[in-house]
Amino acid sequence: MAGWATKIKGGTVSPSVPYLPGAEFHAYTLREPLGVVGQVIPWNFPLLMAAWKLGPALTTGNTVVLKPAEQTPLSALRLGELLLEAGVPAGVVNVVPGYGETAGAALAAHDGVDKIAFTGSTEVGKIIARAATGNLKRVSLELGGKSPNVIFDDADVDAAIAGAAQGIFFNQGEVCSAGSRLYVAEQHFDQVVEGVSAAARGIKVGHGMHPDTEMGPLVSQEQFDRVTGYLKKGQEEGSSAVTGGNAIDRDGFYVEPTVITGAGADHAIVREEVFGPVIAALPFSDVDDLARQANDSHYGLAAGVWTRDVSKAHQLAKRIQAGTVHVNTYHVFAAELPFGGYKQSGWGREMGEEVLNNYLETKSVIVAL
Ligand code: ADP
Repeated sequence: MAGWATKIKGGTVSPSVPYLPGAEFHAYTLREPLGVVGQVIPWNFPLLMAAWKLGPALTTGNTVVLKPAEQTPLSALRLGELLLEAGVPAGVVNVVPGYGETAGAALAAHDGVDKIAFTGSTEVGKIIARAATGNLKRVSLELGGKSPNVIFDDADVDAAIAGAAQGIFFNQGEVCSAGSRLYVAEQHFDQVVEGVSAAARGIKVGHGMHPDTEMGPLVSQEQFDRVTGYLKKGQEEGSSAVTGGNAIDRDGFYVEPTVITGAGADHAIVREEVFGPVIAALPFSDVDDLARQANDSHYGLAAGVWTRDVSKAHQLAKRIQAGTVHVNTYHVFAAELPFGGYKQSGWGREMGEEVLNNYLETKSVIVAL
């Protein structure tokens, strides 16, 4: 891949080269593939995550070992078959299903792997980063979130309610960038809580393959235990569910879409990633205090701002520590827009021009003229 080229006059040269005032150099950069890239992806959007990972790695000339999540290996395996059929040479994309602690860990630690790209929990992201130290392979991480969605007093409240509901309930809340902390201007708090609760009650929960279903089950027993564990902990810590709050009594890992109020800033339901259809609503009155609360998190993946005041929206967008800030919308992604996290939500960005940096080395070549 071509970098840039230029002519340099004079300048610093190494001690072994006589310094010649007025010496000229032709210099350019090369952008080169890293080599073998390991990619470990999660189960929440199995095909999309494979596409986000494979596209930039292959575009930049690398080969890939892709490990899908143990819960969802089939779409990646089928994609591998289709890539072969489409003419991608054998060995360029290798799909290796397996468990995280074995296949994933082996990939992260392997000395023959030049880079590891991971999407998943912050906890496993840290394990991956540590495992990569053996050969200092390049690491990019797209991790968890606890994203604030902020509704100001001058917002279009109906649109904000619909956006807040979609921001958390889309894909059963099993979305790293879900808007799971809902900060609402005091005067609209009751209306918004009631509106989001009504939206939650209206969601048709059912089998994932049924055409009428709007929300399916959680992915696994483990995920079910995690989400219901947070619901229980929320109760113990003193918050309450305005709607939902329980598992649904049917065969499968079903949980009610849930709206929580009365949680404190230090409660697990406000601080930790639930990764389920559970939103905690909190009132605010002062914008500085709101900005502080929004940033009071280890995470920094996404945020939402609902207001009719464009300047206020941009000011808050600047203050919020998050890789993506939505204004009067939520969950909008585009191939040209970098996506990733501040703080413990990750290292590096997916998509946009920036993602190419994850998969390239840069070489400077300087030629004395
Ligand atoms: P989630 O909590 O969303 O299931 P995880 O971070 O546990 O997310 O899993 C995301 C991906 O990471 C999966 O492909 C999983 O197999 C893999 N994984 C889990 N543990 C490890 C590990 N110790 N080393 C490498 N990969 C792992």
